[in-house]
Amino acid sequence: MATVAVVGGGVGGLAAAIRLRVRGHDVTVFERNAELGGKLAVLTRDGFSFDVGPSLVTLPHVYDELFRLAGTTLADEVELVRLDPQFRYWWRSGRHVEVRDDGCDVPGWAEFVRRGRTIWEVSERTFFAGPMSGPWSLARRLRRPRDLTDIDPLRTLHAAAADVFGDDAEMVQWAGRYATYSGSSPFRAPATLGCIAHVEHAYGCWYPMGGLGALRDAFVRVAARVGVDLRCGVEVRSITATADRVNGLLLADGTVVAADVVVANADATHLYRDLLPDDRALRAVRRAQPSTSGFVICAGVRGTTPGIAHHDIWFSDDSRLEFDELAAGRLPADPTVYACVSSVTDPSQAPEGCENWFLLVNAPAGARLDPSASEALVLDRLASHGVELRDRLLFTETITPADLEARYRSPGGAIYGTSSDGRRAAFVRPRNRGVRRGLYLVGGSSHPGGGLPLVTMSARIVDEMIADEVAGQP
Ligand SMILES: Cc1cc2nc3c(=O)[nH]c(=O)nc-3n(C[C@H](O)[C@H](O)[C@H](O)COP(=O)(O)OP(=O)(O)OC[C@H]3O[C@@H](n4cnc5c(N)ncnc54)[C@H](O)[C@@H]3O)c2cc1C
Repeated sequence: MATVAVVGGGVGGLAAAIRLRVRGHDVTVFERNAELGGKLAVLTRDGFSFDVGPSLVTLPHVYDELFRLAGTTLADEVELVRLDPQFRYWWRSGRHVEVRDDGCDVPGWAEFVRRGRTIWEVSERTFFAGPMSGPWSLARRLRRPRDLTDIDPLRTLHAAAADVFGDDAEMVQWAGRYATYSGSSPFRAPATLGCIAHVEHAYGCWYPMGGLGALRDAFVRVAARVGVDLRCGVEVRSITATADRVNGLLLADGTVVAADVVVANADATHLYRDLLPDDRALRAVRRAQPSTSGFVICAGVRGTTPGIAHHDIWFSDDSRLEFDELAAGRLPADPTVYACVSSVTDPSQAPEGCENWFLLVNAPAGARLDPSASEALVLDRLASHGVELRDRLLFTETITPADLEARYRSPGGAIYGTSSDGRRAAFVRPRNRGVRRGLYLVGGSSHPGGGLPLVTMSARIVDEMIADEVAGQP
């Protein structure tokens, strides 16, 4: 069995550590922050609790599969609630659409979801099934020529949505929002991302009681229980290697750690720029575009708001303009505002008679935002939808792209690692196999991309690759 060092204790790193430990390897996770979980993080203040990273759990069976390997189940570790409605969507035209757990009756919705199902079924056994080292990796896993057309990789998500919803521009905008689940633009990302509508419908939208921190705590508990050595507040300065294989870590305090295998959960740019500098690999990483970042407001709010759900989205008036502004590196003047008010479902998240508003708008990676001006813009745009929070605020705390970069070392504060923009995105995303033997990449910046379920899947892929290497089949 091997000695494995995992650099970074985000969900991808923890999931890989659990799998590798269950196989019998000797696994240590080194996390520079004081807490594990990476972007899956929580802010508490004055009796309020905010999920400041992910606020939505999808594909729960992905975590259940991992936990079962460790001798437990997701249900045993976390009390998950299936949200119904899943989302309420609002436009300034006065329209609002509710997607419930059993669906939505807007014309075209069922057809869009049906197409998403086809995409998902093929993607699951091809794209998500193993590592990706170029179009051939995907081609090898296709069973029939139709698989390729079924995953709809050549059209944009916007074009596919327009094909279904025709001149219902608001529903075209609704469908396009699934591009933002990987920090991408509906005008550039492939129609393949439409499968997320099916995923939410078929597998549900979930909330862990106690907040997303309860899921983070479950990952940490399970990792500790199977015997992963978890070290927080330990910065890795570099990965040590011979000419052809890694052999350990150098920690910031000068400690040398020997390892047969290094799993980098840190962002691929940080890996190849700082931890194991490699110009060629870094150039390859830079071919992949970073995902969007975000501007976050956590607001403790007095009183309750009629009509809201756990998740609400207030759309911009002009989707194309919004994504053009993002592409130009600016915070849109009229951003789509995403809100999670988990106190709607879970009274433990806010004092009685109050609400915990987590507001998120897309922001360009690397944008230098003025927190108070950005907050004023978002609250003003929300008010223009008829949701006036400004006279009910007890406090606000903001998180800018620069804050995200500083906290998690993600370039420009990219939320999801690499984006899905462009037809080649899936193939230029950094590979799970690193540039030296014994080095593997897990997490949002590598295949298959960002979001909690995908980084958990990347841990499965890396675990299988390491098993092959240890068995002598690289
Ligand atoms: C605001 C926001 C909203 C989101 N919403 C959702 C959502 O609703 N649903 C969803 O599924 N996903 C969502 N995501 C995305 C999701 O959080 C991420 O894709 C996922 O958590 C990334 O996990 P990871 O393992 O790739 O890496 P990270 O969480 O980035 O963890 C990497 C870890 O490595 C550590 N590290 C880096 N360098 C070093 C070093 N040199 N030494 C030691 N440690 C190091 C970092 O400190 C960090 O803890 C959201 C993210 C954000 C920020």
